Parts: sequence; C-alpha cells; structure tokens
Amino acid sequence: MRLIIMGPPGAGKGTQAQILVEKYSIPQLSTGDILRAAIEAKTPMGLQAKEIMARGDLVPDEVVCGIVSERLDGDDAKVGFVLDGFPRTIAQAEELDAMMTEKGVALDAVISLEVDADALVERIKKRAAESGGSRADDNEEVLRNRLDVYGELTEPLIAYYAKQGNVKHIDGMASIKDVTASIAQELNK
Ligand code: AMP
Repeated sequence: MRLIIMGPPGAGKGTQAQILVEKYSIPQLSTGDILRAAIEAKTPMGLQAKEIMARGDLVPDEVVCGIVSERLDGDDAKVGFVLDGFPRTIAQAEELDAMMTEKGVALDAVISLEVDADALVERIKKRAAESGGSRADDNEEVLRNRLDVYGELTEPLIAYYAKQGNVKHIDGMASIKDVTASIAQELNK
C-alpha cells in the first residue's frame, strides 16, 4: 500500500499515519520527524532547517526531496509506505511522481484530512501544552503562518492529485476512531 496523508497542521496526520503503519505493516515516512531528528543531531541539514521550521516556513524542496528519495530506496519501503507531511508543494509532488515512475510503482491513494481552521488552533495549543514545548513550531503565531503556508502552497495539491483520480476526502473533525474507520472504508472501496 502506497499512501500520502495530507491535511493542515494539527489535522491528525501523524496519528492516522501510525495506525496505517500497524494495519498495513508499512513504514511511516514523515519529513517533519526526519528533520526534527536532524536538528536534534545537529547535522548540516538540521542546522539549515532549524530556523526555517521554527518560523513555520517550508524547508527547500531539494532538501525534503533528497530525504524522501533516500527513504524510498530503503528495503522497508519496497512493500509500501505512508508519506506524512510530504509532498507540500507542487514541485515536490512532481518530483515524487518522477521517483515513483522510475521505480515502476504508483500511489494507491491520497488521504485528505479536512478540518476547520479554528479547531486546529485549539488542537495545536493542546499539543503544545502536552509536549512541554518540545516542538519550537507549536505556538499560535507560528501555527497561523503554517496554516497560511498550507493554504498557499500545499492545499493546491488536492486538485493536483484529484486530476490523477486518487484523492479520498475524509472528515478530520470526527473522533480519532471514526476518522480511522472512514479511511479504512475509503481504502477498501
Ligand atoms: P510536520 O511535522 O509535517 O508538521 O513538519 C514540521 C515542519 O517541517 C514544517 O512546518 C516545515 O518547516 C518542515 N517540513 C516538513 N515536511 C516538509 C516538506 N515536505 N517540505 C518543506 N518543509 C517541510
């Protein structure tokens, strides 16, 4: 199973991605997690990404495409994957298409978690309180920027993938359990 899970920050992508990992025994490929690990390890990539992420802006396409290309070459990704937080721009989506064509594989579905912007602010505030400030980008001002960036650069991907005919629209405002059930229903169609 080869999946993309999309949605604005705080939509529950990571939570649902982890459930899909268990269900299909596929790796979760989260560019955000990989970048946070790079910051933690103070690698050159982490140093480059740190300030950009703290502002809620996007890390350059070449950097994240490099991460994904490397991960897709891993043995564990041969059976499938769930991409969480990638692609975030049309250029990234085009690059992913090219990578997949080269490998002779195709996406099974793009799951779009649809949520109300006000609810996201509340969710992120809660996540910030629970994580004890471990994420520099979990605060209201940065969140507003992340939402703007999402609307401007990432949301157009829904139309991009709709043209390919594989978008599954999911109501992300429901409970975690119900969102999981809607995803399962859509993937079984
Ligand atoms: P996330 O954990 O997916 O919310 O990502 C956290 C931050 O990492 C984002 O706000 C961006 O700064 C950066 N990031 C993660 N994935 C990407 C991507 N595909 N393209 C550009 N920046 C990214």
